[in-house]
Amino acid sequence: MILVLGGAGYIGSHAVKELLDRGYHVLVIDNLSTGHRHSVDMRAVFVEGNIGDCMLLERIFTQYNIEVVMHFAASCLVGESISKPLEYYENNVINTFHLLKVMIKNNIKKIIFSSTCATYGLAETEFLNEESPPSPINPYGRSKLIVEQMIDDCFKVCGLEYIILRYFNVAGADFSGRIGEHHDPETHLIPNIFLHLLGKSKHIAVFGNDFRTVDGTCIRDYIHVLDLVEAHILSLQALLNSSSVGKVYNIGNNKGYSVKQIIEECERLTNKKATIVYEERREGDPPYLVASAKKIGEELGWVPKYSLEDMLRSAWQWHRNNPDGYNN
Ligand code: UDP
Repeated sequence: MILVLGGAGYIGSHAVKELLDRGYHVLVIDNLSTGHRHSVDMRAVFVEGNIGDCMLLERIFTQYNIEVVMHFAASCLVGESISKPLEYYENNVINTFHLLKVMIKNNIKKIIFSSTCATYGLAETEFLNEESPPSPINPYGRSKLIVEQMIDDCFKVCGLEYIILRYFNVAGADFSGRIGEHHDPETHLIPNIFLHLLGKSKHIAVFGNDFRTVDGTCIRDYIHVLDLVEAHILSLQALLNSSSVGKVYNIGNNKGYSVKQIIEECERLTNKKATIVYEERREGDPPYLVASAKKIGEELGWVPKYSLEDMLRSAWQWHRNNPDGYNN
């Protein structure tokens, strides 16, 4: 049985579906604070609860034979982390501390942890690789880096085997059209553009156009959620046969797009014109984050299959068919 924490969230729900399609048994724990019950595939066992709830975890670990924990459950918004730092440290660090304690106590010693490119901070090179020095510039990135270090410390002395995936900007949706990205409020760029193009907002705000980049807007590296899920499956297989443990891998496409370029691509795809309003920079946003994801390609054979066009097409299909997300 694979325990998926945060399996009702955007990325977790895509991972759950893929795991089930490949024949794994899946148990989801999610407190539904940001996730959606309807996003969780019916074939999974679902438990509503907190990942820092030690009694619940004890019960799950006693009742089920958990082979690997996939840990997606976290607060993950850069801007919000600046205004609510303690919530981020509580949810991301303290809850994971409890999780690790109960895991080790119950001899559950394999974990895949969702980390982020926000651990790097201000990029000093064109492509960030796993050896680039971590120097997060917001509480979100710091909270993830602390957990990475906690996990590595446990690896060294408690035998906790891990793979940490540092996600760059995840986008797109499952091609079935049944699951996709739905946050409330939505803060991410691509969903916000599509929701605007569907008439849900008057304009799309662009946070800062005076960065030292090609067109003054921030550059990010976008990766299809299904490519990211594939990286999780390969990591799972590596952990199950203990062929690669104690590893950190970047998950990105080795290619950057500016905010303006993403808006233009969305306009082209939908044949609609966006109304853009330039606003102040969003605090905590690094100007440039682009991955080198060579390491996971070389070590686990991960090759991203999907283009930016595939991400935008699948996201557009999801938003057009579900303009109110899971509530319609
Ligand atoms: N962004 C923007 N307008 C929006 C949402 C995001 O200009 O409505 C910018 C944001 O400042 C950042 C980039 O788009 O430079 C990607 O932001 P997102 O929130 O999607 O992901 P993040 O990089 O923060 O994880």
